[in-house]
This record gives sequence, structure tokens and C-alpha cells, in this order.
Amino acid sequence: SPPAGLGPDHGYGPDIDHVLLSEAQIQSKIGELATVVARDYAGKEVLLVGVLKGAVLFMSDFARALQLPTQMEFMAVSSYGSATSSSGVVRILKDLDRDISGKHVLVLEDIIDSGLTLSWLLKNLGGRGPASLEVCALLRKPDAVKVEVPVKYIGFDIPNEFVIGYGLDYAERYRDLPYIATLKPEVYSG
Ligand code: 5GP
Ligand code: MG
Ligand code: MG
Repeated sequence: SPPAGLGPDHGYGPDIDHVLLSEAQIQSKIGELATVVARDYAGKEVLLVGVLKGAVLFMSDFARALQLPTQMEFMAVSSYGSATSSSGVVRILKDLDRDISGKHVLVLEDIIDSGLTLSWLLKNLGGRGPASLEVCALLRKPDAVKVEVPVKYIGFDIPNEFVIGYGLDYAERYRDLPYIATLKPEVYSG
């Protein structure tokens, strides 16, 4: 049955196993992250780089919470691998629309799992001469410690489970949920 008290579930309720982070928990954490980032970047203009598609909801809420003038760019990358794990071989599907040299770039990521995608992305963006380059990730899994990726801002450390919602998909579904949850096993077996 749909999780009680969590707001609209877009009809996905029957697929949800358990909710890890409610909409209220996510929004409250975004407020905290935005406060810290606004202090760290005071007097500067921030260029937010959202990694499509997972970071779209996070970007939208974070940009509204952040009391600083910000600009937005998006990048889409694909890491070759299975539906639920990445390989570290990354391909750019959509590049930034403009030069980031001299800009204060803050990369917004949905989740860091192995860290391979982000590690590749940081090398790539770092080579374009930004004034500064930092990462703000909403979620981080335990495996992320295995790859050395400097992530300055983290929302939540979560257990090593496959999660969906709030931008995160399984087979392109569930991104539109306002909370983060796991799926019942039968969803994966079809
Ligand atoms: P990494 O390269 O850090 O292993 O994984 C990067 C990407 O894999 C994330 O940006 C995300 O798109 C996907 N990913 C990793 N863990 C999860 C998860 O638990 N759920 C979903 N939906 N995607 C994940
Ligand atoms: Mg991502
Ligand atoms: Mg995905």
C-alpha cells in the first residue's frame, strides 16, 4: 500500500518497499546545504552544473533555497554498465552550453555510489579552467569511499541499497516521486 503521510505517490505506491527519506527530510537538508553554500560563496556568483537526469529535482529545489545569484548549466553523461551499477567508462551525452573558465562551479549530483562517474567528471571539468570546482551530492553510499573523490557537500549517507525517487530512476521510472525509497523485489523481476 502507498506509504502513509508522504504526499502524492503518483500511483507508484504499490511498488514501494520502504521510504528512506521523506519529502520533509529532503527539503530540510537542502535548506541546511544551501545555508552552508551561501556562506562559503558569499559575494560570488555560482554556476550550478546539474548532472542529468538524476539531479534535476535537486537542482531545482537547491537553486531556490540558495540565497545567492546562481546560473544553471546541465551536463548529461552515461556510464556504461548495467541498469543498477556503473563501470567508470563515461561518455558525454550532452555537454555544457558554454565555457566555465573563471567561473565558480558547483556540481550537483543525485548520488555517489562507486564515485567513478563523478571522478571522471571532475577531471573533465577541472581541465576547463574554472575558478573553483566543488561538488554537492544529495546522497552518498558506503562504496563511495573506495574512490578518492573530494566531495565538499553531502546531504545524506545512505545504506548500500538501490534507491529511487527524487530524480533517481529505475528504467526511467520513479524520478517524479518527492521522496526517496526502495522498490519491492518483484518490481525488478518484472
Ligand atoms: P557511480 O559512478 O558513483 O557508481 O554512480 C553514478 C550514477 O549511478 C548515479 O549518478 C546514478 O545515476 C546511478 N546510481 C548509483 N546508485 C544508484 C541508486 O541507488 N539508485 C539509482 N536510481 N541510481 C543510482
Ligand atoms: Mg548522477
Ligand atoms: Mg539511472
